[in-house]
Amino acid sequence: MRKTVTTVVRAENLAVSYGAERALDSVSFSIRAGEFTAVMGPNGSGKTTLVRTLLGLEAPDSGSSSLFGEPSAEFSDWARVGYLPQGKGAVYGNFPLTVREIVAMGLLPARKFPRFLSAGDGGAVRTALETAGIAGIADRLIGEISGGQQQRAFLARALINNPELLVLDEPGAALDPLTRDNFYGTIARLPAEKGTTVILVTHDTAEAGRYASHMLFLDSRVVFHGTREDFCASSEVEGYFGPFAQHVMCHRHDGGGPCPLRSS
Ligand code: ADP
Ligand code: MG
Repeated sequence: MRKTVTTVVRAENLAVSYGAERALDSVSFSIRAGEFTAVMGPNGSGKTTLVRTLLGLEAPDSGSSSLFGEPSAEFSDWARVGYLPQGKGAVYGNFPLTVREIVAMGLLPARKFPRFLSAGDGGAVRTALETAGIAGIADRLIGEISGGQQQRAFLARALINNPELLVLDEPGAALDPLTRDNFYGTIARLPAEKGTTVILVTHDTAEAGRYASHMLFLDSRVVFHGTREDFCASSEVEGYFGPFAQHVMCHRHDGGGPCPLRSS
């Protein structure tokens, strides 16, 4: 039996400007259920603007985008989406919420009014804490843990509704090398285990090459969008990014396959 493949995210000819500056231009692509897309591009290439526009947080000048077939601006079923915004740096000070409370708050968008948490929510909170590897610090105050631990608390919050679409904007930036592998490992299993669609904005070419099924390269416009295999086989890509980027992304250094970098 063939599995029905649904389009989860679609962008059609999106243009977004801030004043005179055009952050996105003629951006079109679609992402289907279960794809793990690494969004890459230089600083200022519009990656954050793109995910915010897809989520209906920025209004495009022209063009359109949709989530689960609904225009982004009208989408309201936020329990289906987990979003980890780009880190603004660590939360410090006496912010009076524990890790457990921050994570539990992720349940609220799925609630009808009145939006209360109940004792029965403990199981979902525990699972999310364990998935993000922070069960051991659940009762610490958010301001008293490291930036990497905080990022994982926000990841747990993004995961708690078992979202069909998970959007992560540079999560690696706040992670120390020890927690990085766990973090990416956790995310990488979701498409196969739960059919989750993942959009990961990252500068980390090695991680992108290792985990992503699809690549979306942005430089205000879409420079490349396609499967990792097409990316690795493309001589155009090599011309644009140089052989080094292709090498780092296409040679899975964990032994996942031969290096496809041609020697000519
Ligand atoms: P990236 O995430 O790839 O680094 P951004 O989407 O954050 O890129 O930014 C794209 C461009 O838009 C940059 O030149 C940035 O300076 C500009 N920009 C982003 N957000 C704003 C904003 N709120 N106001 C004005 N300019 C912005
Ligand atoms: Mg950004």
